[in-house]
Amino acid sequence: MIMKKLYVIAGPTACGKTAVAVELAKQIKGEVVSADSMLVYQGMDIGTAKPTTEEKQNIPHHLINIITPDKTFSAAEYQRRAVKAVNEIYERGKLPVLTGGTGFYINAVLYGNDFLDELADMDLSHNKISSNNLQYIIEKTIQYKGIIVSEDLRDNGKRMLLNLGHTFAHALEATAGFENISHGEAVAWGIMQACALGLELGITPTDRAGKIKTLLVSSGFDYSKSNPVSSTAKFLEVIESDKKKRQNKITFIVPDTQSAKTVVLDDMNILEKIIKGGISF
Ligand SMILES: [Zn+2]
Repeated sequence: MIMKKLYVIAGPTACGKTAVAVELAKQIKGEVVSADSMLVYQGMDIGTAKPTTEEKQNIPHHLINIITPDKTFSAAEYQRRAVKAVNEIYERGKLPVLTGGTGFYINAVLYGNDFLDELADMDLSHNKISSNNLQYIIEKTIQYKGIIVSEDLRDNGKRMLLNLGHTFAHALEATAGFENISHGEAVAWGIMQACALGLELGITPTDRAGKIKTLLVSSGFDYSKSNPVSSTAKFLEVIESDKKKRQNKITFIVPDTQSAKTVVLDDMNILEKIIKGGISF
């Protein structure tokens, strides 16, 4: 991760933050990024200490008056827009001065949001996802892939995390017949199985598995459909043959508290239980 300089001026409304921020921005060649949940709204100028043109002293201010008051504005949406504004400020060779009284806005910029929560904030249903959101998801996933690959240039194991759900998916495709299930569908199902395995092993927290399930459902995955594995025996056979190829070990990726981790499974009984059980969480 590249660390860049960012100034934060935090405090309650009407404690003189604007004046300090503007003065600082003048001295360091900065621009102000507002972190105030009231100032994002157009109108609503009374009691919100919205800086006047005079107070701004020609210093650019971002994330003020950006939406109409009838719209809801989530922390995830704020984070997305604020990070974009901050990056553009860096691109202009200037420094951001994050100023405001909304603590969770400031935290969202400094520490980021959980990507699952951000996704939960969007309408992911087919044909409804906005091009903005789609672009954001693509950018973010490429960014994550880039980080993981750069941390594991020689492909020593960490990169496997990108294959969450795939071990199950490939076995399902081989069992069901590739022409009967799309790769995407198989992977969605595989991710659910990976969650089920993680739950069984006590690695995946229940709320995380629930979040993943909700996201898959909201994006159109129908988990209530009958178990796509017509024959558990055939499925396990496919996995077993894979296992032989890999020196009698089979590695699965399961979600954990923060991201995902690899587990080496030699007990096929656990697997059988999960496949037979369908998706029951
Ligand atoms: Zn795959």
